[in-house]
Amino acid sequence: MPDLRFDPIRREWVAYATERNDRTFLPTDFCPLCPSGAGGASEVQLDTFEVVVFENRFPAFGPDRNSGRVVRPPSTGCEVVVYTPEHTMTLAQLPVDRVRLLIDVWADRYQELGARADVAYVYIFENKGEEIGVTLHHPHGQIYAMPFVPPFAAAELQAARDHRKSTGRCLHCDELSSELDGPRLLFADDSMAAFVPNAARWPYEVHVYPRRHVGSIGDLDAAERADLASALLRVAGTYDKHFGFSTPYVMAMHQAPTDGQTWPEAHLHVEFYPPHRRADRLKHLAGVELGAGTFVNDTKPEDTAAQLRRAARKRPETTPARTTGAAKTLN
Ligand SMILES: [Zn+2]
Ligand SMILES: [Zn+2]
Ligand SMILES: [Zn+2]
Repeated sequence: MPDLRFDPIRREWVAYATERNDRTFLPTDFCPLCPSGAGGASEVQLDTFEVVVFENRFPAFGPDRNSGRVVRPPSTGCEVVVYTPEHTMTLAQLPVDRVRLLIDVWADRYQELGARADVAYVYIFENKGEEIGVTLHHPHGQIYAMPFVPPFAAAELQAARDHRKSTGRCLHCDELSSELDGPRLLFADDSMAAFVPNAARWPYEVHVYPRRHVGSIGDLDAAERADLASALLRVAGTYDKHFGFSTPYVMAMHQAPTDGQTWPEAHLHVEFYPPHRRADRLKHLAGVELGAGTFVNDTKPEDTAAQLRRAARKRPETTPARTTGAAKTLN
C-alpha cells in the first residue's frame, strides 16, 4: 500500500514518496516520454502514438514502488498521460482533435481506475512549466488514483451537498449561472463556460465548467467533449497570448468520487492556476497562504478577466498555426 500517514490535527493525509527525490530532473540529452521505438530506452517503446498512458515510475501513490520497474499496480495507481510524441509542443498548441482524444483517454481512465474497489477518487491534473516544479518538459499530465477523497474535492463536495440540502439545487450550477454574462466570464459556448471565479485565489485562475449538470468526465457526451477540448485550448492559448510566453500552470480536474457512493451534488469542472501575477513576477505562497490557509490576491478577478478577454482577441503570436478545427475556437 502507499506510504500514507494521517495527520489527526489537520485531519488530512500526507503521502511519502521518498524515491521521487531521485527522479529524472530536466534531462538535457534524453527524454523518457519521447517515442523510442521497440526496445528503446524511453518509457514509450513505440515508433509514434497519438496519446499514450503508462504507470509513473516515480509515483506518489501506489503499492509497487520498490521494484523500480514499470508495472501496473494491483490497487491504487499513478499514471502518466503523454499528450503527443512531439517533445516541444504544449497542450495549448495541440490540434483540437488530439485534445478531444485526450478527453476520451481521461474518461476511460476515470472509469477504469474508478471501478477499482480501493480507489475513492481519480484525480486528473497537469503540472506545466519549471516554475511549477515540472521535471520533464515533454507535454504530459498525470492521474492519481487515490484511496481517499482529497481535501479540496471533499470541501467542495461538502459545500455542494449542504447547498443541495437547503436549496434543492447544485451549488456549481448556481455559481455558473451567476457568472454567465457577468464581468468575470471569459467565454461561453453551447456546452462549456470559462470564467475567473469570484473568489479567485490566483490572479489568473480560470475555471471551465460544462453548462449541463454532469458529475464526471465520463458523463460528457460527444458534443460536450468536443466543446471541452476547444475550451481547454482556448484557456491555455489565452494565457500564452496574454503573457507572451508559454505560460506555466496547474490544471486540476474536480469531479465525482468513485468510492461507491452516489454523488448527485458533484459537478465536473477544470481549474487552472497559473503562478504568474505579472509576466515578470510569480505569486509565491507565503506566510498567510501556507501558515494561515488564506490566500491574498493582488488583483481583482474582474480586472484579470478583462485582461484575459482582451488577450483572447489578439492574434496568436507565441503559438504556432493550428488546424482548421482548432482555429475556429479562437473566434
Ligand atoms: Zn520528449
Ligand atoms: Zn451542477
Ligand atoms: Zn473545484
